[in-house]
Amino acid sequence: MNNHPFQGRCTLVGAGPGDPELLTLKAVKAIQAATVLFVDDLVNEAVLGHARSGARIVHVGKRGGCKSTPQSFIEKLMITAVREGETVVRLKGGDPFIFGRGGEEVEHLREAGIEVAVVNGITAGLAAVTALGVPLTHRDHAQGVVFVTGHAKTGAAAASDPTDWRALGAAVHHARLTLVIYMGVAGAAHIQRELLHGLPASTPVAVVQHASLPHQRHAVTTLGRLQQDIADARLASPAVIVVGDVLRGIAAAAATEGAGHFGT
Ligand code: SAH
Repeated sequence: MNNHPFQGRCTLVGAGPGDPELLTLKAVKAIQAATVLFVDDLVNEAVLGHARSGARIVHVGKRGGCKSTPQSFIEKLMITAVREGETVVRLKGGDPFIFGRGGEEVEHLREAGIEVAVVNGITAGLAAVTALGVPLTHRDHAQGVVFVTGHAKTGAAAASDPTDWRALGAAVHHARLTLVIYMGVAGAAHIQRELLHGLPASTPVAVVQHASLPHQRHAVTTLGRLQQDIADARLASPAVIVVGDVLRGIAAAAATEGAGHFGT
């Protein structure tokens, strides 16, 4: 099966949510050892300061709507570099295995006979909630957490949207879960509508953009006002939407402050 003898090495590295101090020591070591780095666009440039001089840095960003490098091409580049004997690091935002297609990359490299190591990173959802000072699973409010993608298909394909928001809303209510929604801002109106089938409009919601970075911004709102407040606060990708009773404390504080529920 392995026609191409393994020469170099490949490591998928989580670069964390943005703050370069949230890198793990293992991530730093892997970056220092790399001769070639393939870098996603949510990765903070400051992280690349750990790369050795002379390392080749290839930006392969693929943000929705922007110029992007097709996934299969990125994988081809990685495979070629490994076969040329390079020490390859694939830097991905947050954790490589939370969305962001890290799993597919590992599968395709393994199919090509290349072993891949994976270094965890702090995922954006964790950083976003911590940035608000909220414990994600405070046992008075939540029994667990669901990380879910809000990247819904639109138009004719919407019927095949695999995310059952009504079931998730019911789970938040009955099983006392916190929802952490990635890539949800663009589809917030749909998510809001569906969740309202199982959750009261007063359910606390927070939206955090650029979590852990100096330009972080957020809104604390309710499910009933989600789409309106995203628009009013001009929040956009990359942002995480958090839904659930763990936010009750900051939601109450925000309500007291009135308009002060948008913050940095
Ligand atoms: N692997 C990444 C997620 C990749 S999907 C991780 O573990 O964090 C990209 C989505 O992650 C964005 O659309 C946004 O929802 C979220 N995201 C990434 N960085 C973020 C940040 N600093 N603040 C808020 N959300 C972020």
